[in-house]
Amino acid sequence: MDVYGLIGNPVGHSLSPPMHEAGYDELGLDATYVTFEPPADEGAAAVEAANRLGVAGLNVTIPFKQDVLDAVDPDPLAERIGAVNTIDFTGDAPQGYNTDAVGAVRALSHHGVALSGTAVVVGAGGAGRAASFGLADEGMDVHIANRTASKADALAEDVPGATGHGLDSLGDLLADADVLVNCTSVGMDEDATPVPAPALHGDLAVLDAVYSPVETRLLQDAASAGATTVDGAWMLLYQGVEAFERWTGETAPVEAMNAALRAGL
Ligand code: NAP
Repeated sequence: MDVYGLIGNPVGHSLSPPMHEAGYDELGLDATYVTFEPPADEGAAAVEAANRLGVAGLNVTIPFKQDVLDAVDPDPLAERIGAVNTIDFTGDAPQGYNTDAVGAVRALSHHGVALSGTAVVVGAGGAGRAASFGLADEGMDVHIANRTASKADALAEDVPGATGHGLDSLGDLLADADVLVNCTSVGMDEDATPVPAPALHGDLAVLDAVYSPVETRLLQDAASAGATTVDGAWMLLYQGVEAFERWTGETAPVEAMNAALRAGL
């Protein structure tokens, strides 16, 4: 049996186990997915231990996504983002990937959103970094707006063609934008939004990385403005789908994985 898993701290409420298990069941794979919660300063040690124990693949979440870079051979995208969320142990050395970037891109594509024109990414933390690189690599012009404007500026220096801003620029930036991605934690378990409702309009596609609740205040405001909306569970689904496909070499059963994920939300 192939053992896959997730390291994070905490990992108690992760929806990744039912999502991946549903994929193994659907394809009849002899595999299982378990969670591990190492101490917060032992991410790299946990990766080395998992490798020795014969674990086939690991997902990595907060707070370990940066720490494990030293324990793996990161692919070019993970290296540019500076974070790893997926590790494959089946080669000579552990290979590190970042599937959050592809997760954002595939979530939008699934909803028929054209990845051309201008994207505004709100937030410059881990999710903001991943989404910014993912959309820029698709050829979009990316503007990054963050509460701490200096972090947006620093990220924009790394992302090809990107510009950095404070949140006070959101109205101007969104007027001509095609895609908006919220990568702040604003709206998570609260009725709040990082984007003033009047800045939203019907020509936008809006992806909210926040998935708890699924219908955030931002997505409700975006729907009222006539925008296309994509909830954060789609991004979570597709980062998992991308990891599943890298590990198993199979086309992931997206519908079964989506159903299991949404049953847990
Ligand atoms: P992070 O690295 O801690 O970054 C947090 C971001 O939120 C920063 O840009 C921060 O701005 C901003 N922020 C926090 N509180 C704010 C406030 N009150 N007003 C304005 N901005 C605020 O976190 P992360 O890993 O990027 O995650 C961000 C969110 O995305 C979380 O809700 C997470 O669950 C979600 N996420 C979802 C997926 C998915 O697959 N759907 C994947 C990854 C993350 P400052 O820099 O100014 O502090």
